[in-house]
Amino acid sequence: MGMTRRTMLGLAISGFVAKASIRHPNNQSNNQQISSLGSEFGPKVISTWPFGIDANANAMDVLSKGGSSLDAVEHGVRITEADPTVTSVGYNGSLDRDGHLTLDACIMDHRGMCGSVACLEHIKHPISVARAIMEKTPHVMLVGQGALEFAVSQGFTKENIVTEDAIRRWEEWKQSNAIPPPTPENHDTIGLLAMDSNGNISGACTTSGLSYKLPGRVGDSPLIGPGLYVDNEVGAATATGVGEAIIRVVGSFLIVELMRSGMEPEMACKEAVKRIVKKHPEQHASLQVGFIALRKDGKTGAYGMRKGEFSYSLTDGANPKGKVITAPSWLD
Ligand code: ASP
Repeated sequence: MGMTRRTMLGLAISGFVAKASIRHPNNQSNNQQISSLGSEFGPKVISTWPFGIDANANAMDVLSKGGSSLDAVEHGVRITEADPTVTSVGYNGSLDRDGHLTLDACIMDHRGMCGSVACLEHIKHPISVARAIMEKTPHVMLVGQGALEFAVSQGFTKENIVTEDAIRRWEEWKQSNAIPPPTPENHDTIGLLAMDSNGNISGACTTSGLSYKLPGRVGDSPLIGPGLYVDNEVGAATATGVGEAIIRVVGSFLIVELMRSGMEPEMACKEAVKRIVKKHPEQHASLQVGFIALRKDGKTGAYGMRKGEFSYSLTDGANPKGKVITAPSWLD
């Protein structure tokens, strides 16, 4: 694979060309070798989809004031959760088959600590509930009513986050009353990865899941492993797209492990897509998935399934205002 202009620019800015070309065989000392490279890069934020650009800006704001990657990822995706124009995340998200808005989210920090929430109703910021689970309970994941009760006990406001617009969309869909095929229009997630000025990486992922899903359905997005994974020695990855396909290959964890064994971030994302293709030889063309990865040395990569459909937002020293980049894809 040739080096893109963007990659070259990033490497030139970081003064990192020589070290970035190091291949890392699969052993502990090379994890340490990757780790030791991180501090040469300034803060960096990468997230799924063009709507990630506003989340990135908020995350970068936290980082530029010396904040941690954990604070950055939480504050980044809260922007998307509150944004009614993003109809697949948080407030004004898409409803399930029975007209309920059930939200899924997870967060993971550089120490490998994580928190997760699934099927959460009535709370605008599931990512902050996920963080509270991580920080204030001995557990990783709470779901449904228990998650709601925990959130309220922590001072989160129980409120109506189902909008007229969401109800109108749901009523339109109800005319057909079918489980919709997972077309690119009826799902999306914000997954966001950030590196702070200490070189520490965290990630966050939040969604309303597949529109008109069966009640109780949970996708990849709140699952540590498929939807998000961070290993501060190596890097991080997160996912968007049809959650069932991503769960079957434990996508984000797979990408981190492939980077650990020396694969470039883009190639690791591509390999995860390839495994999905292998598992779904007949249907893969209709399964939109997208992965993004951030390696400990600051290098990023992404890969999607469907031609030209998956794009992501990158904000760093070279792109302070953020840049939307179309990821290469399997069906290109
Ligand atoms: N991954 C999400 C889910 O399956 C949806 C998406 O990102 O498109 O719930």
